[in-house]
Amino acid sequence: MGFSSLASGAVDTGTDTSGTSSRKVQTQAVPATVKAPDLENLLKRVATDQAPKELSLGAMCYKVAMPPDRVEYVCPSCGTKTLYATTEAGAFVGEAAPALEIQTYRTYVHRLAQFGLDIRFDESCLCSACKKESAKAPAIEVLYKGKKTRNDLHDVNDLRKLLAFVEGKLVWEDSHAGEHPLKPEIPRICEWLGIKP
Ligand SMILES: [Zn+2]
Repeated sequence: MGFSSLASGAVDTGTDTSGTSSRKVQTQAVPATVKAPDLENLLKRVATDQAPKELSLGAMCYKVAMPPDRVEYVCPSCGTKTLYATTEAGAFVGEAAPALEIQTYRTYVHRLAQFGLDIRFDESCLCSACKKESAKAPAIEVLYKGKKTRNDLHDVNDLRKLLAFVEGKLVWEDSHAGEHPLKPEIPRICEWLGIKP
């Protein structure tokens, strides 16, 4: 038994990505029939197969949407609201990024769980009430072959890389549909999953 039932976590039920609609999140069970992915096999593929030479550069002239001045994060476990300022003296506050993109984080973790990965998302660092002193960033816990591995996430791209890997792809796609080979990410992917490169 792992923590698949917990891994399902929060599901994005709407189109609101501001993190203000966390109240609407619901828990969805991941079907128990989904087989855990063979991570070692996937790893072998990424390490040996040649990624396509022609990778999409993605959208070059997309409009950069200005984030709201502040984002209100609502904790899914205790309901406490935490306010994050997104700009300070005209500069973007990096700390606010996970709160702004929380629905994207949750959606990717949920999709990873749907692929059979035993994964749990810990976003407690974003809640002023639940936050532990040591928690610096949203984290994932992966249970694979009886071993539990916990890692802080650098940004939401970490989950994009991990999902592409579990999907058996050789490239991962950033938020502007730009493609990047997965091979250079192998060391970090192994760290996240607790497997040997
Ligand atoms: Zn909380």
